[in-house]
Amino acid sequence: REELAALLSEEVGDRAGDWDLAGAIPLETLRRLGAEGVLCAEVPAEFGGRGLSGLDNGELTAHAGTLCSSLRSVMTSQGMAAWTIQRFGTREQRSKELAALTRGDLAAVAFSEPQAGSDLAAIATTVVDDGDSVVLSGHKVWSTASAYADVLVVFGRYQDGAAAVLVPTRAPGVTVRPVPQPLGCRAAGHADVLLEDVRLPATRVLSGASVSLGLLTTIALTYGRLSVAWGCVGIIRACLTAAATHARAREQFGKPLAEHQLVARHLAEMYVAEQTATRLCEHASGCWDSRSAELSSASVLAKHAAAGHAAHAASAAVQILASAGSVDGGTVARAYRDAKLMQIIEGSEEICQLILAERALERVT
Ligand code: FAD
Repeated sequence: REELAALLSEEVGDRAGDWDLAGAIPLETLRRLGAEGVLCAEVPAEFGGRGLSGLDNGELTAHAGTLCSSLRSVMTSQGMAAWTIQRFGTREQRSKELAALTRGDLAAVAFSEPQAGSDLAAIATTVVDDGDSVVLSGHKVWSTASAYADVLVVFGRYQDGAAAVLVPTRAPGVTVRPVPQPLGCRAAGHADVLLEDVRLPATRVLSGASVSLGLLTTIALTYGRLSVAWGCVGIIRACLTAAATHARAREQFGKPLAEHQLVARHLAEMYVAEQTATRLCEHASGCWDSRSAELSSASVLAKHAAAGHAAHAASAAVQILASAGSVDGGTVARAYRDAKLMQIIEGSEEICQLILAERALERVT
């Protein structure tokens, strides 16, 4: 893990702000990291991956989050795609597709549609059998990393259930349209994807059969939630470092900002945020590694809490740096925009709260 973290630090250097302003990460950087297996580091060694545990991959993801949330978002997408293939693919699909994803091919995941945001049961994309082929039609929106991807894991209706289909972005009928000027994670390659009678070999359907849509999305999202939660830990750590450094160095009213109690209180709250989010992520990754039945709710809890803490910590960091933090592309200004989006994706604040309320109610049944 240390070696992969060092590689990330080296590749990002001080470029995250420029990538944010440009709205893009150089493709060769992503391919290099992909070919080193950093972007989906949990893929087992037998499929060419690094075989990291959930906990180690989580800390690696947090490290990426301290450097650049756009890059961390690309990691989340690649990891979620790899996990979906690992979990639902046949042996042959796993061998071929996971090897591609650890050799530098890039992947994205497409659930959301214009009428299917929080309510994924409303997914309308269709996957229809036609001899040895399947034909896909639909409209996906806001798919992170699609602008860079070689392959999309597309979720659609299939037979009497659902399927995830591996769709090459170069296949005829696929149009990838980058989202113009996203609020945050501006270099994460968000795009809408049009699928117009996309004909593919039936072997592109993961597992080759239909499965329940709920199962498919829950399993993919569990990886995504954990990854986003760890990414939020990274945002909090970056904000805490920036705020503490500034609060020590900058003096007002004859003493460092850190010695003004109202500023120190912000720092204390950020520290609590970092510790709390880290512990919840460690617990959820522990559940992942031990295949605990508690995993699903632990990942929702970690994501919900970490995203909320990241949004508050980023706001506090901008407050402490004040004019020095109010520069577009700068660490805390970026974090402020990026963190807000973490409260929307992989289950918004409200959707997480609904799930957690169910857990609360189970205590008294
Ligand atoms: P809506 O579902 O329209 O919700 C609007 C508001 O209403 C939200 O606050 C929501 O919480 C609330 N709400 C909705 N239903 C309820 C309810 N029952 N009770 C209470 N409140 C409710 N999608 C992908 O498929 N792949 C990706 O890689 C991907 N990446 C993304 C990256 C970013 C930065 C963003 C912003 C989005 C991304 N998405 C992606 C889409 C994302 O999953 C959706 O935006 C998210 O699920 C919310 O859907 P929506 O935006 O349509 O909001």
